[in-house]
Amino acid sequence: MPELPEVEVIRRDLVPRVEGRRIQSAKIAEPRLTRRRGTPGGVAAALVGRRVKALRRRGKFFIFDLGRDSLIVRLGMTGQLLWSENRHGFRPDQYTHAHLVFQGAGILYYRDIRKFGEMFILPTESVEQTLRVGVEPLGDAFTPEMLGEKCRSSTRIKSLLMNQAKIAGIGNIYADEALFRAGIRPTRRAASLRPEEIRSLRRAIRLVLQAGIRHRGSSIANYRDACGEPGRFAALHRVYQRHGEDCHACGTTIRRIVLGQRGTHFCPTCQR
Ligand SMILES: [Zn+2]
Repeated sequence: MPELPEVEVIRRDLVPRVEGRRIQSAKIAEPRLTRRRGTPGGVAAALVGRRVKALRRRGKFFIFDLGRDSLIVRLGMTGQLLWSENRHGFRPDQYTHAHLVFQGAGILYYRDIRKFGEMFILPTESVEQTLRVGVEPLGDAFTPEMLGEKCRSSTRIKSLLMNQAKIAGIGNIYADEALFRAGIRPTRRAASLRPEEIRSLRRAIRLVLQAGIRHRGSSIANYRDACGEPGRFAALHRVYQRHGEDCHACGTTIRRIVLGQRGTHFCPTCQR
């Protein structure tokens, strides 16, 4: 599933292509995409003729700012935003459920095998309160003090990191990788973390997210950037899906458990 780094890589790919451009036509062929709000025809019609003022991101959501309204896109498990221009780039297939034609620029396709993704329109002024995503972990507001506040909870630390209403954009991969780098077991109760562990965890979260962006995302399932290329961060995973292999730091076998219905990977020696 695309997490903050993957969404941010795609956003940066698309910004120079769509910002300031007008949507000439739009088609949404899959009703599940608009299940949260509106209808396929209604959402598509509302996009035609509108100019994209800015393409922003909150957590795992893309926000196409159209002025009064914004188009929100969430990729879910297997969603992809793929750019095509001048007969180069992506060609639509049976899993391509929507596209936006940008005047004088190209076509943005939405492709999604499992159809857990979403497209809907919100008034721009209500985007924040409707999406209800927590603090951006790469932003200035994400201080050790703020993480410490959020950790005053009996929930397990990995579940807290993945709670989108608390911290935006961290999913299974980056939670496991950050906890390894901080030396913290995913099963620890958040409230049991000592101040130095909280500082170390904040540092590790920012480090893995920035590395994920730098290496253009982690292509574990079918993640592709806006040009259809896989990312390279998966080769740098220390624990995620490395169960049964040796820990690079200490040689202990990496373990996998299920926590909150998600596969969770850790080193029993390095993480306490
Ligand atoms: Zn280890």
